[in-house]
Amino acid sequence: MSAHVVFEAAVVRMVAAGAVDRARVTEVDGGEVLRVHAAPGDGAVVLRTTPDEPVAGARVHCVVDGADVVCLDESLRPLPVTVIPEHADVFDRVRGVFETDILRDRAVAVLGLGSGGSVVVRELARSGVGRFLLVDHDRLEVGNVCRHECGLADVGRLKTNAVRELILDRNPDAEVTTLDLRISSETVDELTAAIKAAGVDVVVCATDNRESRLLVNRLCVLAGLPALFAGVFRRAYGGQVLRYLPGLTPCYQCFVSAVPAMANDREIASAEQAHRIAYSDRPVAVEPGLAADIAPIALMMAKLTTQELLAGTATTLASLNEDLVAPLYLWLNRREAETDYAALPPMATGVDTMSVLRWYGIDLPRDIHCPACGTPAVEGVEPTADLDTSDFRA
Ligand SMILES: [Zn+2]
Repeated sequence: MSAHVVFEAAVVRMVAAGAVDRARVTEVDGGEVLRVHAAPGDGAVVLRTTPDEPVAGARVHCVVDGADVVCLDESLRPLPVTVIPEHADVFDRVRGVFETDILRDRAVAVLGLGSGGSVVVRELARSGVGRFLLVDHDRLEVGNVCRHECGLADVGRLKTNAVRELILDRNPDAEVTTLDLRISSETVDELTAAIKAAGVDVVVCATDNRESRLLVNRLCVLAGLPALFAGVFRRAYGGQVLRYLPGLTPCYQCFVSAVPAMANDREIASAEQAHRIAYSDRPVAVEPGLAADIAPIALMMAKLTTQELLAGTATTLASLNEDLVAPLYLWLNRREAETDYAALPPMATGVDTMSVLRWYGIDLPRDIHCPACGTPAVEGVEPTADLDTSDFRA
């Protein structure tokens, strides 16, 4: 047998400490790779077994001596061993850009774990963000897979749980709290409590309907929390990212008032919306659009989130703060017919004119009469008055 034995770092630690001396061994690639897992309370020596039944007569003997692991096959020949590194080593390549331990203690709430939210989570986990609150009510469907970070193996599962595993596969030390909840006026108090309990630093709002975004917006205004709101235009011909910094930038409600056309140009996210815009008896697909067209918006969300989490620390990314000063960012994937951008000149090789496939920072005024963030000094305006979302539901 020529197996390669892969140990989880935690197993080595537990075995060395005498906390476990028997672990479960999973065979991968027809037994070429043996992966060793353990949990406190497991039994004696490491045996080669499948998860369900022991493989008789084919034992692997492993000895953990301090940081060293030695494994022998049944003929007592040594086997190659890999120990999965711990947090500090996993993020070795990120070190030098910023101190990864800074992000280890930062917490991000990601609301909506669809094709955009799951990509934001993946990027933040890979950067070393250590604490997540994941909120979604949905289960992964076959139709999601071509654009989602999770694949067919996760179909039928709650997106929260599937995405949680995605994080732990990159950062085994991450703390991930999940909340299976549909964001509505009935559940917003529960969401607020969870965000408070998780000590969230930044809220990433990647939900697919405006009512939830307005509720999240109000929550963040009241809590004084920075937030990012993503929007993907229909068929993902482009999208925008709104960055809300309490007291400094317009909020999502201000944005909706200032540029209603952009705010209305939404991706088709539900069967009901698809039915409404259908121009024939032929059904319109929900959320048509390529993952590659959604990715730029998700990556911008991840970048802005990271800048926010690193605020006030010395990093090589600090110069970006001078670039990323706009409250609103626009990205166009193509010159979509029947839009304001249809007549743009082709990108070609110039840099003088607006074109597709580039980010644009857009200034946006705060609305002093905004029902969510407007100043209370304005006559007759309560800053936290109930939002009128009726016209957005139509
Ligand atoms: Zn506002």
